[in-house]
Amino acid sequence: MAIRQRNRPFGIEKPGVVRGKVVIIEERCKGCGFCVEYCPNDVLKLSDKFNSKGYHPPVAINPESCVNCGFCRMICPEFAIYTFEIKDE
Ligand code: SF4
Ligand code: SF4
Repeated sequence: MAIRQRNRPFGIEKPGVVRGKVVIIEERCKGCGFCVEYCPNDVLKLSDKFNSKGYHPPVAINPESCVNCGFCRMICPEFAIYTFEIKDE
């Protein structure tokens, strides 16, 4: 008896990996580090520079690892970071 192929319905190729682009609004940031702590892929770290309030905003050190999960946006108390989906080339 033939085995049905369930992993590739209708011959669709493997779905692409979701990737995100990180946007940081540095002037809103209070340097709490929550986004850095909660990012599951270690995309972020606090930068050495200061914003005008004297806080260290995050910087994306591994931007290619962002999967657009949205944890950083959800956890940020200052609405200072968000991401949007980008398509693989
Ligand atoms: S969207 Fe997810 S993977 Fe991307 S920077 Fe934010 S927490 Fe990290
Ligand atoms: S969670 Fe928001 S306020 Fe805290 S370091 Fe990240 S961007 Fe800045």
